[in-house]
Amino acid sequence: MSFISERVNNLAASATLAMSQKSAELRAAGIDVINMSIGEPDFNTPEFIKEAAKDAITANFSHYPPVAGYLSLREAICEKLERENGLHYTPAQIVVGNGAKQELCNALLATVNPGDEVIIPVPAWVSYVEMVKLAEGKPVLVYAGLEQDFKITPGQLEAAITPRTRVVMFNSPSNPTGSVYTKDELAAITEVLERHPNVLVLADDIYEHINYVGGAPSISQSESLKDRMVVVNGVSKAYAMTGWRIGYLAAPAEIAKACSKLQGQYTSGVSSIAQKAAEAAYRGPQECVEDMRKAFERRRDLIVSLAKEIPGWKVNKPEGAFYLFPEVSAYIGKKYGDKEIRTSGDYVLYLLEEAHVAAVDGDAFCAPGYLRLSYATSEDNIREAMRRIREASEKLQ
Ligand code: PMP
Ligand code: GLU
Repeated sequence: MSFISERVNNLAASATLAMSQKSAELRAAGIDVINMSIGEPDFNTPEFIKEAAKDAITANFSHYPPVAGYLSLREAICEKLERENGLHYTPAQIVVGNGAKQELCNALLATVNPGDEVIIPVPAWVSYVEMVKLAEGKPVLVYAGLEQDFKITPGQLEAAITPRTRVVMFNSPSNPTGSVYTKDELAAITEVLERHPNVLVLADDIYEHINYVGGAPSISQSESLKDRMVVVNGVSKAYAMTGWRIGYLAAPAEIAKACSKLQGQYTSGVSSIAQKAAEAAYRGPQECVEDMRKAFERRRDLIVSLAKEIPGWKVNKPEGAFYLFPEVSAYIGKKYGDKEIRTSGDYVLYLLEEAHVAAVDGDAFCAPGYLRLSYATSEDNIREAMRRIREASEKLQ
């Protein structure tokens, strides 16, 4: 007899978190694993942000904060949206939550009815499909492989939209591919969406600052879609604040209100201290964002050049985020002793066991045949990991 609901039984566990946990366990057991599975900046949170958190404790920010977030933080977010994205929102349209993750999930729970279709361009971040399932929606996957730089075309989007389509999710720069849509590509996608006024757009801009093309435009800036646009963002990636758990959404007031109602019943407002830290991040000096971006760019160049030396791997040149998403199906069918690599997942496990490098199977991102490496780690780690991967891969016959 199991007490577990169908809702949870039907849910896949987060592969990124599972792989990271596995590599932490191996490390604890004394194995020198290089963890390139989880995607999070390896930098520490900048000092001025940490100071703001300490000040908040001293100033007794210790009571329940408002469900949608402190007004001062929501104001700082509105200023950020105006300053950096040219978007005009008011604090009543902002909901702060436990990371961008919670706000993505809130947006889906607040807008999707059972059986509604949600279009997800794939490869996509592990949690999108599962969040849609939680909301009892039907994920509709639109696939774009390496040969199209992992970007869907307007034609593909048009073909996927039906009268049951409720939401289209969009993430550029993308996790797991690092692809960045150009202004023209976004304009063409926007044109398709303009023809379907009943479709809501959920733009996940969490990697906006981590791009190597001099500023990544976003679908969230499509003025014609503004009254059905939900923008999700947060401090995790831009300010190296993954553990602080602050994200937000900006949306038409009705949707923001619905998300706030939802949150009011199952989490309340997010940690008061973390909110004050996030406010400092948005209001303080912004050089730290650019310094980290530059470091990621050097690492991107390094990992791409090393990945090209691995026989059988096919790689694009990611223009944003901090992931490499090589196509590795050349290894399927190869053997090492009596072990046969039957899937990209087998190859990922082989790399963990043989090379002690933790990656994530592309299957977790709806793209079997690929794997994901997070290069948010030191250049030394990247060099060593790629050396080990190449050596282990060359043993496969
Ligand atoms: N969206 C994408 C595409 C991500 O990669 C992540 C980080 N895993 C998130 C949202 C969630 O970020 P957080 O909850 O840390 O703000
Ligand atoms: N962005 C990270 C990743 O994709 C965080 C882990 C997660 O929440 O999935 O690895």
